[in-house]
Amino acid sequence: MDTHLTDCIVIGAGIAGASAAAHLAADRRVALIEAEEAAGYHTTGRSAALWILSYGPLDVRALTGASRSFFESPPEGFAEAKLWSPRNILTLAATGDAAAAQEALAAGPWLKEISVAAARAMVPAIRPGAVSAALLEEGTFDLDVAALHQGFLAQLRRRGGTMALRSRSMRIERQNGAWEVEVTGGARFRAPILVNAAGAWADEVATQANIRPLGLVPKRRTGVIIDPAPWQPADWPALMEAREGWYGKPEARTRLMISPADETPIHAHDVQPDELDVAIAVDRMQQMLDIEVKRVERAWAGLRTFTPDGSLAFGFAPGAEGFFWCAGQGGYGIQTSPAAGRLVADMIAGRDSDWLPDSARLVDSIRPGRFAWPSRSIRW
Ligand SMILES: Cc1cc2nc3c(=O)[nH]c(=O)nc-3n(C[C@H](O)[C@H](O)[C@H](O)COP(=O)(O)OP(=O)(O)OC[C@H]3O[C@@H](n4cnc5c(N)ncnc54)[C@H](O)[C@@H]3O)c2cc1C
Repeated sequence: MDTHLTDCIVIGAGIAGASAAAHLAADRRVALIEAEEAAGYHTTGRSAALWILSYGPLDVRALTGASRSFFESPPEGFAEAKLWSPRNILTLAATGDAAAAQEALAAGPWLKEISVAAARAMVPAIRPGAVSAALLEEGTFDLDVAALHQGFLAQLRRRGGTMALRSRSMRIERQNGAWEVEVTGGARFRAPILVNAAGAWADEVATQANIRPLGLVPKRRTGVIIDPAPWQPADWPALMEAREGWYGKPEARTRLMISPADETPIHAHDVQPDELDVAIAVDRMQQMLDIEVKRVERAWAGLRTFTPDGSLAFGFAPGAEGFFWCAGQGGYGIQTSPAAGRLVADMIAGRDSDWLPDSARLVDSIRPGRFAWPSRSIRW
């Protein structure tokens, strides 16, 4: 069986692996290996596709902000479709829970209070009397995840990189200064650098390589598509319940995507929606919006995977030469991906990231070694 020799192996062709591989391929030979028949089959293909600067821990926000210019003006020829379109976010506090709006307002300067009447002018389906306060966040947007993801994969190919689908890592060993990865079917890949971008499976991949896992927790999140007719939601803002009990956004002009914002810890697998979560999404949405749901058109679930402190884990595993973690993207992996991939490539090359404000502090604070790593964690 052939052994493919490269400079860098990236495991996982979701948005994290695709972006990292595309950036790394600018100056090295890269092999991207993916277990499934299609890249993006897992979490990347199951997101809500929003870009929200105020969302997530501070390090995530830094990468979200640093990604903005890429979405607005990607490199020439990167994607055929526009990667973003404006979509403000309207946060709604339930009647009887005005404190929720005050807490959201106190959290930062990005929300501004508007009258409930103004909110109803934007979203006429808001039930009279159901909402006590409304907050608007401007400058947020919808993302075209498929165009972004395919753009990174095409960039990887143009730069001479390769992608192997149906190639799940089965054995990972460090031998003579290089990582060797044997995949389903028996093919082998060999490179001095291995990037672990396996999403919910990143701890499993580390374990295959005999490296201590980080304690990642995949959490199920559900999306539901409904027909809100006779309402026409195309120009509505995205909607967020102030305590994040549910959120929603227009989908394909005439439909509404809603989510109960569930975060159920679960093992890494091809996760499916739970009927109860679907019912909760509909019920919570209906407490605020006057929308009759005759049937759910589609429901899905995906795994948002978190480190123990909820922030990212990017960096070399201590004591394991050439093993680079690119994990813990949680609910922000799409909106951070352009800057995240670039940062990963810089870190691996040992380059400064001058384009990223306060990058030295950021790199230090997202290092995987912060999770109480024993000084010698690897045996081979
Ligand atoms: C309902 C929902 C809404 C979301 N909304 C947003 C949003 O609005 N904005 C945002 O930025 N983010 C959002 N997210 C989060 C975002 O989708 C994720 O952060 C992102 O997709 C994670 O990408 P990833 O590449 O790390 O994981 P994945 O896309 O899961 O990719 C990991 C890949 O690794 C492969 N793999 C695993 N093990 C192996 C192995 N051993 N060998 C080879 N390949 C392997 C898997 O097959 C998979 O393709 C949402 C997520 C969900 C579920």
